[in-house]
Amino acid sequence: MTDETVLILGAGPAGLSAAYECINRDVRPIVLDKENTVGGMARTNNCKGYYFDIGGHRFFTKNQRIGRLWQDMLGDDFLKVDRMSRIYHQGRFFNYPLDFINTLSNLGIAESLLIVLSYCKAQLLPYPQERSFEEWVINRFGSRLYRTFLKTYTEKVWGIPCHKIQSGWAEQRIKGLSLMSAVSNALIGTQKARSLINEFHYPLKGPGMMWQRFQQAILAGGGRVELNSKAVGLNHKNGRITGVTYIHNEKTVEVPVGHLISSIPITRLVSLLEPKTPDEIYKAAHRLSYRAFIIVGLVVDKKDLFPDQWLYIHSPNVQVGRIQNFKNWSSAMVPDPRKTSVGMEYFCTEGDEIWTMPDSDLTEMASRELSELGLAHMDDIQDSFVMRQPNAYPIYDHSYQKQLDIIRDFLGTIDNLQTIGRNGMHRYNNMDHSMLTGVLAVENIFGENHDLWDLNVDRGYLEEDDKTADRKLIPEKILTQTFARMDKLAFATAVGSVLGLIFFIATIWPVIIEGDMVDPRLILLAQYFIGYTVTIKGAFVASAYSFGWGFLLGWLFAYLRNLFIGLYIFRAKKKAELLSLRDFFDHL
Ligand SMILES: Cc1cc2nc3c(=O)[nH]c(=O)nc-3n(C[C@H](O)[C@H](O)[C@H](O)COP(=O)(O)OP(=O)(O)OC[C@H]3O[C@@H](n4cnc5c(N)ncnc54)[C@H](O)[C@@H]3O)c2cc1C
Repeated sequence: MTDETVLILGAGPAGLSAAYECINRDVRPIVLDKENTVGGMARTNNCKGYYFDIGGHRFFTKNQRIGRLWQDMLGDDFLKVDRMSRIYHQGRFFNYPLDFINTLSNLGIAESLLIVLSYCKAQLLPYPQERSFEEWVINRFGSRLYRTFLKTYTEKVWGIPCHKIQSGWAEQRIKGLSLMSAVSNALIGTQKARSLINEFHYPLKGPGMMWQRFQQAILAGGGRVELNSKAVGLNHKNGRITGVTYIHNEKTVEVPVGHLISSIPITRLVSLLEPKTPDEIYKAAHRLSYRAFIIVGLVVDKKDLFPDQWLYIHSPNVQVGRIQNFKNWSSAMVPDPRKTSVGMEYFCTEGDEIWTMPDSDLTEMASRELSELGLAHMDDIQDSFVMRQPNAYPIYDHSYQKQLDIIRDFLGTIDNLQTIGRNGMHRYNNMDHSMLTGVLAVENIFGENHDLWDLNVDRGYLEEDDKTADRKLIPEKILTQTFARMDKLAFATAVGSVLGLIFFIATIWPVIIEGDMVDPRLILLAQYFIGYTVTIKGAFVASAYSFGWGFLLGWLFAYLRNLFIGLYIFRAKKKAELLSLRDFFDHL
């Protein structure tokens, strides 16, 4: 138990989950957030009755504890949605995840053939060293497929050319491409993974509804959620945070702190520490960077625009990256069923050309692009709202891990401080992972010893997750042993020696024990082993012959086994690579 104040910075999914866990343990936390609403990046904005997310937020998790929490909070208001999202490319809709027949019929025979040829070329003549994301993708899928489906969208999301993105990043993002998981999946199937792609949960009135319920539960349990409260200073002394200064309605407030849990961007946290951190830490924090995000909500006077929840827009002629159609997430997202609200999503960097555009220009651009894409007429657009999200995507550049380690080591010296959530830990994670870090941080206050930095929500952290799909993957150790290459020489020698010994004993036994009463069948061996007799000398002859044959057979067996296993693994890996392409954009 703790009698000290638990102060939580940020009322996003991570901070609210931490606060709710406090309430469950009879501790009344204080949550501060600089915004006037809860939910952080996962908030929902209500604009004249139209609900807009900051990018559509799918609720899916492999973590049962978080899954139950969501369900308990919303009950019947937690909808199950069948996913439909396609790629819009050169005026055509491509099914997403990509499927063979639809892609083929959209691209036409000639283009499909060229894609297959370029795939084969990449398999035969790959880049010897994969230095960039571009080379990494081309080696796996061929350059034509890369240019058709992957290049433009990836560059829109990250704002840098693909040849400048580190190749390691792709491997990190696209899990399931490891040899072992490919083989494991090939052996036991990928049912669970498939169902996660095809359906998800969504609150009736957007994700903000979930966080409002959390807020209500925290308030009902005696906690405080202070909105419009921006933390501006964190005092620390002798390895402990002693108090937090924040500004609420233009007034400066100071509050003493027993435990501090922070989900605000780690870069911001470092700059708030008083006394100031050593220069090295400050510099490391400012070397971490983010991608920002703008969503322009448009109300269109049309009942139906397209049936998808969202479209990926690949065309390089428009800047929009994705288009959300919120009534297809939940019909309650629009107040008038005769109208449609779309969210035109722009990936950008704080301070760049898009970020600094006045709202009127953003609205003009979004309306024009929607009409250029042929999805609506300019005249049908009735209203618009611009929402900006700084720090939307923590960037994993070549040095981020090094900088993060420096900051982590320093923050680790402050006893009563834990950082949680997406930007709190500079981890590109989803709501479930962010929430789990919050819950476990509170458990740490109560004596547990979770390493939040080592948390992998997909792997499952808690005992109850043992039942989830990933646990059913065959353990890597077993796979490594089963599919290890067989040593041909050792196996051949072993088989030869065993056979040699068997024939040696089979011959010498009757000679020593039975004397002249030799089994006539043994004599027949002379037909195979030239010079063989049932004598002591014959035993050595039989042993030499059978060793030779055994060695040959053993070698051949091991050779063929290695060959077949190699081909099997190769096939499983190629299949896994192609499958990962199907839902590639979910990982960006
Ligand atoms: C476009 C987009 C789409 C996404 N889609 C999905 C999805 O489909 N499914 C999914 O699971 N996840 C999705 N995510 C990720 C999800 O939004 C995050 O994982 C989640 O919101 C992180 O929660 P958090 O509490 O860690 O951080 P945040 O939501 O960022 O909350 C941090 C809070 O801290 C507050 N804050 C910052 N500075 C201060 C300060 N100085 N003082 C007080 N308060 C401060 C902020 O106002 C904010 O409310 C998406 C994210 C984006 C950007």
